[in-house]
Amino acid sequence: MPEVIVIGSGTGVPSLRRASPAMVIKTANTHVLLDSGPGTLRQLLKADIHFSQLNLILYTHFHPDHVADLIHFLFVSKNSLAFERTIPVFIGGPPGFLNFYERLKQTFGHWVEPPKEKVELFEIAPNTPWGHEDVEIIAFKTPHTEHSQGYCIYHEGKKIVYTGDTDYDPGLIEAIKDADLLICEASFPYKVEGHLTPALAGKLAKEAKAKALLLVHLYPACEKIDVLAACRRTYTGPVFIGQDLLHLKV
Ligand SMILES: [Zn+2]
Ligand SMILES: [Zn+2]
Repeated sequence: MPEVIVIGSGTGVPSLRRASPAMVIKTANTHVLLDSGPGTLRQLLKADIHFSQLNLILYTHFHPDHVADLIHFLFVSKNSLAFERTIPVFIGGPPGFLNFYERLKQTFGHWVEPPKEKVELFEIAPNTPWGHEDVEIIAFKTPHTEHSQGYCIYHEGKKIVYTGDTDYDPGLIEAIKDADLLICEASFPYKVEGHLTPALAGKLAKEAKAKALLLVHLYPACEKIDVLAACRRTYTGPVFIGQDLLHLKV
């Protein structure tokens, strides 16, 4: 039974209540980290997860609030820092990810180059199933940036979908369809281009017949409204409002 742990339910805006975007999907064999905003590696410790336990890290897009701790991760994964990685980690992102990494190397040099046999970076193309340990991953394009994509994660007959940042598009429904849990961004109470409101997240969940909905990527403006009530306007299934360290079994 896959478990979902909200590491950071917030955004790039510093908040004592909500850490920056990061989610963990945990199965018997795998810890999958989805995005790693600033402070993620430290925040993982609060969920009892050491960065050395991660087997797979997937990025939805290259905005700093989602990738900042990749730099930190690569740096502390070097052998020279009194830490020896015993299990390899695979780090994937949308097409363009390897180019993004090349530019990081141009900036930080060998400090972000851990041993290749321990850390492998790769690109994961949309709509192309990819298996790792006991999970299967299928990426799908999202309307947010040129590169952005969400992920469907399958394990033991369960389907978990993580949108990352996205706007509304009926084209998303096919990818999300029948998700056991839809982890969806709900950035603002009012419409902002490239993002969803809680009501639009609910609309997606309803149209895709998602069995449950978890709202994350909540900007501070969302603290001023009743997020659940806003989402209820469009979706009547189970709704979880993301909180840091919230733990769900799917
Ligand atoms: Zn973004
Ligand atoms: Zn974001």
